[in-house]
Amino acid sequence: MLKGIAVSKGISIGEAHILDRSKLCALKQTINSSNIEKEITRFRSAVEQTKKQMQETKKKASKIAHKFSIILDTYTLLLEDDILVKDTINKIKVEKVNAEWAITETLKKSLLLFDKINDEYLKGKKDDLELVVNGVIKNLLGYNQNSLSDIHKPVILITHALSPSDTVSIPRQYVLGLATAAGGKTSHVGIFASALGIPGVVGIKSLTEKINTGDQVIVDGINGHVIINPEKNLLELYKKKQSEHLQNEDKLLLDIGKPAITNDQFHVKLMANIESTHEIKTLKKFGAEGVGLYRTEFLYLSLQNLPSESDLYNNFKKAAQEISPYPIVIRTLDIGMDKQLSSKGTNDEDNPALGLRGIRLSLVNSELFEIQLRSILRASLHGKVKIMYPMISDVQEVITANLILDNIKNEMREKQIPFDEDIEVGAMIETPSAAICSDQILGEVDFISIGTNDLIQYMLAVDRMNEQVAHLYEPYHLAILKILKHISDNARKAGKKVSICGELGGDPLATLFLLGLGNLDSLSMDPHSIPHVKKIICQSSLKDAKDFSQQLLNLSSTTEINCFLTGEMRKRYPLSFQEG
Ligand code: PEP
Ligand code: MG
Repeated sequence: MLKGIAVSKGISIGEAHILDRSKLCALKQTINSSNIEKEITRFRSAVEQTKKQMQETKKKASKIAHKFSIILDTYTLLLEDDILVKDTINKIKVEKVNAEWAITETLKKSLLLFDKINDEYLKGKKDDLELVVNGVIKNLLGYNQNSLSDIHKPVILITHALSPSDTVSIPRQYVLGLATAAGGKTSHVGIFASALGIPGVVGIKSLTEKINTGDQVIVDGINGHVIINPEKNLLELYKKKQSEHLQNEDKLLLDIGKPAITNDQFHVKLMANIESTHEIKTLKKFGAEGVGLYRTEFLYLSLQNLPSESDLYNNFKKAAQEISPYPIVIRTLDIGMDKQLSSKGTNDEDNPALGLRGIRLSLVNSELFEIQLRSILRASLHGKVKIMYPMISDVQEVITANLILDNIKNEMREKQIPFDEDIEVGAMIETPSAAICSDQILGEVDFISIGTNDLIQYMLAVDRMNEQVAHLYEPYHLAILKILKHISDNARKAGKKVSICGELGGDPLATLFLLGLGNLDSLSMDPHSIPHVKKIICQSSLKDAKDFSQQLLNLSSTTEINCFLTGEMRKRYPLSFQEG
């Protein structure tokens, strides 16, 4: 059993598909006599696949250089070579080992022969042989250039890391579960898995070296475990757990039409975080009362060229219409850190988390920003649209962004392009400076939304994507609870709305504390979390929640907070915290 960090609840059981293209490692596995023929067939088809790929490359290469295409012919011939193929098949049969291991051993033997040869030309063939064998191993392991779009059946994705641009090209309907070697509690992989409603575990060291494509895998996104080729009894146990989990999820959806109102009549709107307009049609099922965060950068990551104003307008218009009469908060571009534009090339900043991201990039590249603002304003006629600025670290950024927005509004008025004159504008509070000075920022906006994913990262100086410091990424750190209280108090004094759109907002363990901040307008989260959070709110009272929050804030250490919080929440809401 491999241990990692659970980032998306649920249990999935299925065939592993290795995506990682950066590492190659064949592990020795013994196989049963009954599986020998299957293993040989798997090997032969990997050889055929490699030949095909070489021929395809040859076709492309011949347009560039004839010499190169001849080399590819030589490679293909090596795969016709009896020694390489026959010896490998023989090894699988006699030693009862997996194909990856068998061909690696055959290669080693052949390379030793090459070392004894005195002919320089033939010695050069050594590299060719290695390259060809690596091609076969890649295919056996499931690595190939098109492996993202090559998934045509339900699988569990196993990868070293999953970049946000990878996530946009994955055929989502085939992903049963997801496990990665890299990543922390709020890295993008977890957000992606939650959005799909599939179990996800991240931060498992050397994961891709321990699993081969085709292995049966269990991803336990409740406890953060990944199990490879489970024994029959364990498999049965997990199948039972899986069906119980699904039944519980279905039960929660029965009352989904009711709003989240405490028994002393305090209403917290539960909204959804989305990354694309397609997701809106599924939100009703989870009882979302709007979109509290539309992460628009994903509209850019999927494209080689930047989207035009009309692309964006059509997208936002559709989103506003589909969610209407509920509101939609469209966040302006938050490119940077883990989300880089492919059209901008690779990121060369030494410290991208502290670099040109969010509003900083928008204010430097105002053309990109203006196109976004114009398209959002035009879409505002078709529903209840709001604008939100990300990564604010100083009130001046809000003032400058608002000036740009005012100029665009004036231009549109002159050109008689209509938009919602009452459109609300908000700022994300996700840096310590914005949190501490949130009173100033509140003076310039209609609402604020707390981005706890980044706020925790910057407050605690812990990279949210780095599995090595994931144990230090502590949402219930006293400093975090205190800063949340400070921001919420500032919003109350300013008479402005405050919401939370980071992952903490969708964590049922945090719900009572957040409710107890006293003036929460809404929580925005992965839609699958809405029923869980709603259940807690509907069983609570605002008065009690306020006392509870104060009790937590009076504790003196993070350990004490965690103990008190988990103990109390289990006691008060046993049905919500019974799984494990
Ligand atoms: C956050 O930082 O909490 C947030 C919601 O934004 P993102 O996760 O997109 O950085
Ligand atoms: Mg953020």
